[in-house]
Amino acid sequence: MNILILGGGGREHALAWAIRQNPKCDRLIVAPGNAGIADIARCASLDIASRSAVLEFAQEHAIDFVVIGPEAPLASGVSDALREAGFLVFGPSQAAAALEASKTFTKQICDACGAPTAAWARFADAASARAHVAQTGAPIVVKADGLAAGKGVTVADSVDQAHAAIDAIFEGAFGDTSVVIEEFMEGEEASFFVLCDGTDCLPIGTAQDHKRVGEGDTGPNTGGMGAYSPASILTPDLQDRVMAQIVRPTVAEMARRGTPFQGVLYAGLMIRDGQARLVEYNVRFGDPECQVLMIRLGAQVLDLLLACAENRLSDARVNWADDHALTVVMAAKGYPGDYRKGSVIGGLDAIRENGFEMVFHAGTSERNGQIVATGGRVLACTGRAETLEGAHRRAYDLVDAIDWPDGFCRRDIGWRELQRVDP
Ligand code: ATP
Repeated sequence: MNILILGGGGREHALAWAIRQNPKCDRLIVAPGNAGIADIARCASLDIASRSAVLEFAQEHAIDFVVIGPEAPLASGVSDALREAGFLVFGPSQAAAALEASKTFTKQICDACGAPTAAWARFADAASARAHVAQTGAPIVVKADGLAAGKGVTVADSVDQAHAAIDAIFEGAFGDTSVVIEEFMEGEEASFFVLCDGTDCLPIGTAQDHKRVGEGDTGPNTGGMGAYSPASILTPDLQDRVMAQIVRPTVAEMARRGTPFQGVLYAGLMIRDGQARLVEYNVRFGDPECQVLMIRLGAQVLDLLLACAENRLSDARVNWADDHALTVVMAAKGYPGDYRKGSVIGGLDAIRENGFEMVFHAGTSERNGQIVATGGRVLACTGRAETLEGAHRRAYDLVDAIDWPDGFCRRDIGWRELQRVDP
């Protein structure tokens, strides 16, 4: 089978690594890929958000299965163009991708199917939004309605801060003309990943990530500085309740509306007193959560993604190992602010990679035989073991083997879960 993966981050390196190990995979092309992916697959330059460019490429290269990594091609309808042309695709339609692209849409789905989430209201002008906040008080959450790459959300501690966030949205900071104001939910966040084929659903793992750049979860938000799986707060019993109260009703409501959801539904949950409420949906794997899920699932990932794309999830099963994984992101100094590109990363050649220790590349390329950093988040050092402590040790051993003076990482990834294991 010839497989095309769209994307070029750590998430796609992890997907490619798992898929490559499955004997069903004959040729693997990743577009655009990166220097780490180039070791295991052919990398091709391609405008992955362009429906016509991707379709032409898939036809030209006799691709049998397309796996879409990031949200941009999903939001631009690449999966629809491929499906219309008869290709097998992993990734939701443009209409179903609204579960990530529009906060109002997700809230309306939750209301329609009774999924527990924060109380909300939408406003199309600043004056009524401000008045609502003044009446409700703080803390309160202000969100730009559309996709804003994690920058459109303000958790406001005061009414003044909420008013400022509302003004920024209506002044056009995110190209939005409406704002969603939400009740502030207290609790601990965790991520739940479920494959959906339009009708059936199959949970494939839980994770928690670290969004802040600084140790102790301080400093500005990032794309994610590390993650681990499983997240013990999402107990098997709670997972069953989330499936019954949130995920299955959402999938049924999407099907009822004629826009069935096919792909991975990534539910961001807020958990308090053993109860979960939905914070948001994403319609693709998280990065770096994907790295910990892939190293745990391994080669079976291809079978699972195929079952999802072929509407066969009712017969699919996950082969679980009783294991843990943890990934530490190494980023360029300065990230998430300004950072330098082009610094040389040493030590990678000496690392022995296997099913327990993997350095997934996120923002790298090869220049004159050397690996150089080309992004903010650059490497994801990932360990797997029988225990979380073991996975933690393996991930940091990888970090320590890398010689990259221009890079940094957090030293406390997994701290909360490690405390729970060994208080
Ligand atoms: P963007 O739209 O800018 O890309 P996003 O899709 O990541 O951002 P959300 O996941 O909705 O936005 O919110 C980002 C973060 O803000 C959440 O991970 C959570 O920590 C916090 N948050 C969002 N909504 C709430 C809420 N109602 N109560 C408490 N915290 C919240």
